[in-house]
Amino acid sequence: MLKILRYIVPALTVFWILPDGLEAAGFTILRQSSKESLELHLYADEQSGYLDLRELAETLGDSLRWERPGEKLVWNIAGHSLVFEERLVFFLGDGHPYQLVAPCRLDGGKFLVPLQLAVEYLPGLVSGRFVYNRLDSRLIDKAGVRGEPAAAGQEKKAAPPAAPKTTTADGKNFRISKVVIDPGHGGKDPGTTGRKYKLDEKNIVLEISKKVAGNLKASKKVEVLLTRDRDVFIPLRDRGKLANESGAGLFVSIHVNAAKNRRVGGSTTYFLDAAKTDQARATAMLENAALDYETEEQDKGRLDEVNLILQDMAQNEYLRESKDLSAFIQSELCGLKELDDRGLDQAGFAVLKGAFMPAALIETAYISNESDEKLLNSAKFKDKLAEAIASGILKYIEHYHKKLASGN
Ligand SMILES: [Zn+2]
Repeated sequence: MLKILRYIVPALTVFWILPDGLEAAGFTILRQSSKESLELHLYADEQSGYLDLRELAETLGDSLRWERPGEKLVWNIAGHSLVFEERLVFFLGDGHPYQLVAPCRLDGGKFLVPLQLAVEYLPGLVSGRFVYNRLDSRLIDKAGVRGEPAAAGQEKKAAPPAAPKTTTADGKNFRISKVVIDPGHGGKDPGTTGRKYKLDEKNIVLEISKKVAGNLKASKKVEVLLTRDRDVFIPLRDRGKLANESGAGLFVSIHVNAAKNRRVGGSTTYFLDAAKTDQARATAMLENAALDYETEEQDKGRLDEVNLILQDMAQNEYLRESKDLSAFIQSELCGLKELDDRGLDQAGFAVLKGAFMPAALIETAYISNESDEKLLNSAKFKDKLAEAIASGILKYIEHYHKKLASGN
């Protein structure tokens, strides 16, 4: 939350966030050479402040074009290519993914991007040209004339690193250098809710996921990307898509289970395959219910059968690896004496279908079980859970890379 406030607090001096809908106010860009002060509209909702990308591009210059009308925009600015897509909570800068505090959104014909772009990423990506002054909340544009790129020498230095390649064109030598951690649910979709402590799954899994990401980063062995780092709704399909487009090599979705029978408890790690038991089927149905929160419009053209079959086929290729990944994670989880070990299982989770890489879904514990719920309420236990999950992921990666080296 603090991180988010850093971006929106300066803006709060000029407008207040309205809970329903967007309210316009100002964001200032100072053109250094002419000392011109340019006022842009600033929009906001409860998640973030936003700028209209078209207005920003027209003010700063260079070209903005639709790659897919109404959905995907490419902005070429000072020799860099920035790609934004509606509803995605990251953008690509020269092919490298950068996480945003809130998804890009289309609103009444305006393509809105989080203010974070101007405050943090433009000065970072095009550092020869942009500086953000935190004292007066203004973006300083050193290029001066509209559309004039900064000196070439300065640009070279500021170029971001290329996205790490996890695979070669022929799919061989597929090394895992980036992992996507997916905290289930979020925003209007709370997931399941506990009875005693009234905990929402979306909050528990976000906390665990952040801890997992922290542990993975600390290992210095992989890069980590979260599909969400705050309480925001992201459609299931966009989660796998983020993983695919970011060049990640693994996708791990983190959840909390619930059952009618309150005696049922413990942890299970799932990979994507047809469910074999009623319990696995029920778990998948519970998680796939997140689809009900997605509006018809968001799903237009996406949920047709051909798509689903193709996605099944794509994830099928990774069945062996997904199973291994799940086994490594579950074997670490079963080391936690407080939780019952419910073992490995398989079911048709929609969120795993879109990720074209080894993928697993962890049901960390049952929120419907009193003893499990108590554990999920403990920060200390969530630390232990996260350590176990991160350790399972790292052990799998090590195993996988050894297998690569031995040519099997
Ligand atoms: Zn869930």
